[in-house]
Amino acid sequence: MIDKINPLSALTKFTNQLKENEKIMPAFFIGHGSPMNAIELNEFSLNWQKIGKEIQKPNLILCISAHWETKGSFVTANENPATIHDFGGFPDELFRVEYRAPGSKKWAIELCKFKETTSIFEEEKWGLDHGTWSILKHLFPLADIPVIQLSIDYTKDPSFHYQLAKELAILRKKGVLIIGSGNMVHNLRLVDWSKINQPNYGFDWALEASEKMKTCIINQQYQELINFKSQGKAFDLAIPSSEHFIPLLYILGVSAKNEEPVFFNDKAIMGSLTMTSVRFGEY
Ligand code: ZN
Repeated sequence: MIDKINPLSALTKFTNQLKENEKIMPAFFIGHGSPMNAIELNEFSLNWQKIGKEIQKPNLILCISAHWETKGSFVTANENPATIHDFGGFPDELFRVEYRAPGSKKWAIELCKFKETTSIFEEEKWGLDHGTWSILKHLFPLADIPVIQLSIDYTKDPSFHYQLAKELAILRKKGVLIIGSGNMVHNLRLVDWSKINQPNYGFDWALEASEKMKTCIINQQYQELINFKSQGKAFDLAIPSSEHFIPLLYILGVSAKNEEPVFFNDKAIMGSLTMTSVRFGEY
Protein backbone atom coordinates (compact mmCIF):
# COMPACT_ATOMS: atom_id res chain seq x y z
CA MET A 1 0.00 0.00 0.00
CA ILE A 2 1.32 3.41 -0.92
CA ASP A 3 1.55 5.93 1.87
CA LYS A 4 -0.70 8.87 1.26
CA ILE A 5 1.06 12.19 1.52
CA ASN A 6 -0.89 14.76 3.47
CA PRO A 7 -1.83 17.17 0.68
CA LEU A 8 -1.96 20.11 3.01
CA SER A 9 1.29 19.50 4.82
CA ALA A 10 3.40 21.83 2.69
CA LEU A 11 0.92 24.65 2.72
CA THR A 12 0.12 24.17 6.37
CA LYS A 13 3.80 24.30 7.25
CA PHE A 14 4.18 27.51 5.30
CA THR A 15 1.09 29.21 6.65
CA ASN A 16 1.98 28.21 10.21
CA GLN A 17 4.98 30.47 9.89
CA LEU A 18 2.62 33.39 9.48
CA LYS A 19 1.11 35.11 12.44
CA GLU A 20 -2.30 33.73 13.24
CA ASN A 21 -4.88 36.42 12.66
CA GLU A 22 -7.03 37.39 15.58
CA LYS A 23 -10.00 36.75 13.39
CA ILE A 24 -10.63 34.46 10.47
CA MET A 25 -10.83 36.53 7.31
CA PRO A 26 -14.25 36.61 5.70
CA ALA A 27 -14.80 35.23 2.22
CA PHE A 28 -16.84 36.97 -0.44
CA PHE A 29 -18.64 36.07 -3.61
CA ILE A 30 -19.04 39.34 -5.44
CA GLY A 31 -21.26 39.94 -8.47
CA HIS A 32 -19.05 42.15 -10.63
CA GLY A 33 -21.48 43.00 -13.46
CA SER A 34 -20.33 45.47 -16.09
CA PRO A 35 -16.66 46.49 -16.28
CA MET A 36 -18.00 50.06 -16.03
CA ASN A 37 -18.52 49.45 -12.32
CA ALA A 38 -14.76 49.96 -12.04
CA ILE A 39 -15.11 53.66 -12.82
CA GLU A 40 -18.71 54.37 -11.86
CA LEU A 41 -19.96 55.26 -8.44
CA ASN A 42 -23.25 53.44 -8.05
CA GLU A 43 -24.99 51.48 -5.31
CA PHE A 44 -22.85 48.43 -6.05
CA SER A 45 -19.44 50.05 -6.19
CA LEU A 46 -20.25 52.25 -3.17
CA ASN A 47 -20.94 49.10 -1.17
CA TRP A 48 -17.55 47.71 -2.25
CA GLN A 49 -15.93 50.92 -0.99
CA LYS A 50 -17.77 50.66 2.31
CA ILE A 51 -16.57 47.07 2.84
CA GLY A 52 -13.01 48.09 2.02
CA LYS A 53 -13.07 50.83 4.67
CA GLU A 54 -14.36 48.47 7.37
CA ILE A 55 -12.45 45.26 6.76
CA GLN A 56 -9.14 44.46 8.47
CA LYS A 57 -6.22 44.56 6.09
CA PRO A 58 -5.51 41.10 4.64
CA ASN A 59 -2.03 39.62 4.14
CA LEU A 60 -3.04 38.52 0.66
CA ILE A 61 -6.04 38.59 -1.65
CA LEU A 62 -6.78 35.39 -3.55
CA CYS A 63 -9.29 35.97 -6.31
CA ILE A 64 -11.10 33.40 -8.42
CA SER A 65 -12.43 35.36 -11.38
CA ALA A 66 -14.93 34.24 -14.00
CA HIS A 67 -12.63 35.78 -16.59
CA TRP A 68 -9.69 33.44 -16.24
CA GLU A 69 -10.52 29.99 -17.57
CA THR A 70 -7.74 27.56 -18.37
CA LYS A 71 -7.09 23.93 -19.13
CA GLY A 72 -5.54 22.90 -15.83
CA SER A 73 -5.36 25.03 -12.69
CA PHE A 74 -2.98 27.98 -12.63
CA VAL A 75 -2.03 30.65 -10.16
CA THR A 76 -0.57 34.02 -11.06
CA ALA A 77 3.09 34.11 -10.07
CA ASN A 78 4.16 37.47 -11.42
CA GLU A 79 5.44 39.91 -8.79
CA ASN A 80 4.06 42.80 -10.85
CA PRO A 81 0.83 41.56 -12.44
CA ALA A 82 -0.41 43.59 -15.39
CA THR A 83 -3.88 45.12 -15.43
CA ILE A 84 -5.63 43.18 -18.17
CA HIS A 85 -8.34 45.02 -20.10
CA ASP A 86 -10.14 41.91 -21.27
CA PHE A 87 -13.18 43.50 -22.91
CA GLY A 88 -14.13 45.58 -25.92
CA GLY A 89 -16.48 48.42 -26.77
CA PHE A 90 -16.03 50.47 -23.61
CA PRO A 91 -14.81 54.07 -23.18
CA ASP A 92 -11.09 54.87 -23.26
CA GLU A 93 -11.26 55.89 -19.63
CA LEU A 94 -11.85 52.25 -18.71
CA PHE A 95 -8.87 51.10 -20.77
CA ARG A 96 -6.70 53.60 -18.92
CA VAL A 97 -7.47 52.10 -15.53
CA GLU A 98 -4.42 50.51 -13.94
CA TYR A 99 -4.57 48.52 -10.73
CA ARG A 100 -0.93 48.04 -9.82
CA ALA A 101 -1.15 45.84 -6.75
CA PRO A 102 1.86 43.59 -6.25
CA GLY A 103 1.61 39.88 -6.88
CA SER A 104 3.24 37.27 -4.69
CA LYS A 105 5.44 34.58 -6.15
CA LYS A 106 5.96 33.24 -2.64
CA TRP A 107 2.26 32.55 -2.16
CA ALA A 108 1.90 31.25 -5.71
CA ILE A 109 4.63 28.68 -5.12
CA GLU A 110 3.01 27.55 -1.90
CA LEU A 111 -0.35 27.13 -3.56
CA CYS A 112 1.27 24.95 -6.18
CA LYS A 113 2.26 22.57 -3.42
CA PHE A 114 -1.33 21.39 -3.38
CA LYS A 115 -0.28 19.26 -6.27
CA GLU A 116 -0.42 16.00 -4.31
CA THR A 117 -4.17 16.17 -4.82
CA THR A 118 -4.56 18.83 -7.47
CA SER A 119 -1.95 20.07 -9.86
CA ILE A 120 -1.73 23.84 -9.73
CA PHE A 121 0.88 25.52 -11.89
CA GLU A 122 2.55 28.91 -11.78
CA GLU A 123 1.60 31.33 -14.55
CA GLU A 124 3.83 34.35 -15.12
CA LYS A 125 2.00 35.91 -18.06
CA TRP A 126 -1.53 36.37 -16.75
CA GLY A 127 -2.09 39.46 -14.64
CA LEU A 128 -5.26 40.74 -13.02
CA ASP A 129 -8.37 40.62 -15.22
CA HIS A 130 -11.34 42.93 -14.86
CA GLY A 131 -13.23 40.39 -12.74
CA THR A 132 -10.58 41.12 -10.13
CA TRP A 133 -9.54 44.74 -10.57
CA SER A 134 -12.96 46.26 -11.24
CA ILE A 135 -13.87 45.21 -7.69
CA LEU A 136 -10.53 45.71 -5.95
CA LYS A 137 -10.19 49.23 -7.28
CA HIS A 138 -13.08 50.14 -4.98
CA LEU A 139 -12.36 47.72 -2.13
CA PHE A 140 -8.66 48.56 -1.79
CA PRO A 141 -7.95 51.69 -3.85
CA LEU A 142 -4.38 51.97 -2.55
CA ALA A 143 -3.51 48.70 -4.32
CA ASP A 144 -1.03 47.94 -1.54
CA ILE A 145 -2.10 44.37 -0.77
CA PRO A 146 -0.62 41.50 -2.80
CA VAL A 147 -3.14 39.87 -5.13
CA ILE A 148 -2.98 36.50 -6.81
CA GLN A 149 -5.55 34.84 -9.02
CA LEU A 150 -6.44 31.17 -9.25
CA SER A 151 -7.77 30.12 -12.63
CA ILE A 152 -10.90 28.10 -13.30
CA ASP A 153 -10.05 24.79 -14.95
CA TYR A 154 -12.82 24.51 -17.55
CA THR A 155 -12.15 20.81 -18.08
CA LYS A 156 -13.27 19.96 -14.55
CA ASP A 157 -16.80 19.42 -13.26
CA PRO A 158 -18.33 21.73 -10.64
CA SER A 159 -17.68 19.36 -7.73
CA PHE A 160 -13.93 19.58 -8.43
CA HIS A 161 -14.02 23.33 -7.81
CA TYR A 162 -16.03 22.95 -4.63
CA GLN A 163 -13.61 20.31 -3.30
CA LEU A 164 -10.53 22.34 -4.22
CA ALA A 165 -12.04 25.28 -2.37
CA LYS A 166 -12.45 23.16 0.74
CA GLU A 167 -8.69 22.65 0.75
CA LEU A 168 -8.14 26.39 0.36
CA ALA A 169 -10.32 27.23 3.37
CA ILE A 170 -7.33 27.02 5.72
CA LEU A 171 -5.94 30.19 4.14
CA ARG A 172 -8.69 32.25 5.73
CA LYS A 173 -7.05 31.64 9.10
CA LYS A 174 -3.83 33.13 7.84
CA GLY A 175 -5.05 36.52 6.78
CA VAL A 176 -5.97 35.62 3.22
CA LEU A 177 -9.05 37.30 1.83
CA ILE A 178 -10.66 34.93 -0.67
CA ILE A 179 -12.94 36.52 -3.26
CA GLY A 180 -14.98 34.76 -5.93
CA SER A 181 -15.87 37.19 -8.69
CA GLY A 182 -18.68 36.36 -11.10
CA ASN A 183 -22.45 36.72 -11.27
CA MET A 184 -24.95 34.18 -9.97
CA VAL A 185 -27.44 34.95 -12.75
CA HIS A 186 -25.58 35.84 -15.91
CA ASN A 187 -27.13 35.59 -19.37
CA LEU A 188 -25.65 38.29 -21.59
CA ARG A 189 -27.52 37.07 -24.67
CA LEU A 190 -30.88 37.94 -23.07
CA VAL A 191 -29.90 41.31 -21.59
CA ASP A 192 -32.59 43.97 -22.10
CA TRP A 193 -30.49 47.07 -22.74
CA SER A 194 -33.59 49.29 -22.74
CA LYS A 195 -33.88 48.63 -19.01
CA ILE A 196 -30.34 49.71 -18.18
CA ASN A 197 -31.61 52.55 -15.98
CA GLN A 198 -34.49 50.66 -14.40
CA PRO A 199 -33.49 49.66 -10.87
CA ASN A 200 -33.77 46.02 -9.85
CA TYR A 201 -35.24 44.81 -13.12
CA GLY A 202 -35.17 41.02 -13.48
CA PHE A 203 -37.07 38.61 -15.70
CA ASP A 204 -39.29 36.13 -13.89
CA TRP A 205 -36.91 33.25 -14.52
CA ALA A 206 -33.94 35.32 -13.31
CA LEU A 207 -35.69 36.20 -10.06
CA GLU A 208 -36.86 32.60 -9.62
CA ALA A 209 -33.31 31.30 -10.08
CA SER A 210 -31.91 33.98 -7.79
CA GLU A 211 -34.36 33.14 -4.99
CA LYS A 212 -33.64 29.44 -5.30
CA MET A 213 -29.88 30.07 -5.22
CA LYS A 214 -30.18 32.17 -2.08
CA THR A 215 -32.42 29.57 -0.41
CA CYS A 216 -29.88 26.86 -1.19
CA ILE A 217 -27.09 29.01 0.24
CA ILE A 218 -29.04 29.80 3.41
CA ASN A 219 -29.95 26.14 3.94
CA GLN A 220 -26.47 24.92 2.97
CA GLN A 221 -27.97 22.80 0.20
CA TYR A 222 -24.73 23.16 -1.69
CA GLN A 223 -25.12 19.92 -3.61
CA GLU A 224 -28.05 21.43 -5.50
CA LEU A 225 -25.86 24.35 -6.52
CA ILE A 226 -23.01 22.03 -7.49
CA ASN A 227 -25.59 20.20 -9.62
CA PHE A 228 -26.76 23.46 -11.16
CA LYS A 229 -27.12 21.83 -14.56
CA SER A 230 -29.98 19.66 -13.27
CA GLN A 231 -32.12 22.32 -11.58
CA GLY A 232 -34.56 23.08 -14.39
CA LYS A 233 -35.40 25.85 -16.82
CA ALA A 234 -34.76 28.89 -14.63
CA PHE A 235 -31.24 27.70 -13.78
CA ASP A 236 -30.57 26.76 -17.40
CA LEU A 237 -31.38 30.33 -18.44
CA ALA A 238 -29.52 31.87 -15.49
CA ILE A 239 -26.35 29.83 -16.05
CA PRO A 240 -25.98 29.30 -19.83
CA SER A 241 -22.24 28.82 -19.26
CA SER A 242 -20.62 28.02 -15.96
CA GLU A 243 -17.72 30.47 -15.64
CA HIS A 244 -19.62 33.25 -13.81
CA PHE A 245 -21.23 30.75 -11.43
CA ILE A 246 -18.19 28.62 -10.52
CA PRO A 247 -16.60 31.36 -8.35
CA LEU A 248 -19.63 31.03 -6.06
CA LEU A 249 -18.81 27.33 -5.55
CA TYR A 250 -15.33 28.33 -4.38
CA ILE A 251 -16.77 30.64 -1.75
CA LEU A 252 -19.25 28.01 -0.57
CA GLY A 253 -16.30 25.62 -0.37
CA VAL A 254 -14.22 27.91 1.84
CA SER A 255 -17.15 28.77 4.11
CA ALA A 256 -17.52 27.08 7.48
CA LYS A 257 -20.64 25.23 8.60
CA ASN A 258 -21.34 27.64 11.43
CA GLU A 259 -21.14 30.76 9.27
CA GLU A 260 -24.37 32.35 8.14
CA PRO A 261 -24.41 33.98 4.74
CA VAL A 262 -24.84 37.74 4.55
CA PHE A 263 -26.20 38.92 1.22
CA PHE A 264 -25.57 42.35 -0.28
CA ASN A 265 -26.00 44.08 -3.64
CA ASP A 266 -28.94 41.74 -4.04
CA LYS A 267 -30.39 43.31 -7.17
CA ALA A 268 -31.23 42.24 -10.69
CA ILE A 269 -30.15 44.39 -13.62
CA MET A 270 -31.28 44.49 -17.25
CA GLY A 271 -33.47 41.42 -16.80
CA SER A 272 -30.96 38.63 -17.08
CA LEU A 273 -28.18 39.51 -14.59
CA THR A 274 -28.00 39.68 -10.82
CA MET A 275 -25.41 41.50 -8.76
CA THR A 276 -26.29 39.38 -5.72
CA SER A 277 -23.25 38.94 -3.53
CA VAL A 278 -22.65 37.00 -0.35
CA ARG A 279 -20.23 37.12 2.53
CA PHE A 280 -19.28 34.41 4.99
CA GLY A 281 -17.53 35.33 8.19
CA GLU A 282 -17.29 38.53 10.16
CA TYR A 283 -14.97 41.49 9.74
ZN1 ZN B 1 -17.89 39.06 -15.98
